[in-house]
Amino acid sequence: MSKRNFLINTLLKKCPRCQEGDLFTVPFEFSKPVDMPEHCPVCHQKFEPEPGFYYGSMFISYIITAFFFLGIIGTCLIVFKLSLNVSMVILLVIAAITYMFFLRMSRSLWINIMVDYDPKAKEDKKKKSFGY
Ligand SMILES: [Zn+2]
Repeated sequence: MSKRNFLINTLLKKCPRCQEGDLFTVPFEFSKPVDMPEHCPVCHQKFEPEPGFYYGSMFISYIITAFFFLGIIGTCLIVFKLSLNVSMVILLVIAAITYMFFLRMSRSLWINIMVDYDPKAKEDKKKKSFGY
């Protein structure tokens, strides 16, 4: 498989090294919103290389959500001419709906920034499993 685009791989929430394994456990559970397997099931890439690895993703999440919510408030106030109170209620509803999406997306983006694609990652895993 050839290298997939960085942003598409981030949106699909796939392992950055092999671009096949899922970053998050499927199916989604509300009690464990960012539950990730310890290793990639395909290439064995560690998903938390060091303690506190995803601390940086917090800043990415903040930047993305701040601009997104600013756009929503601006649209409500300027385009639809709603009052500030109504706009804030709409924002809270949208924030509650999109919270999990942005949280997982920022983690996916962070690990895709930090870990490079390796076309031989899958082959290395196969060799290890056969004892080469
Ligand atoms: Zn992988």
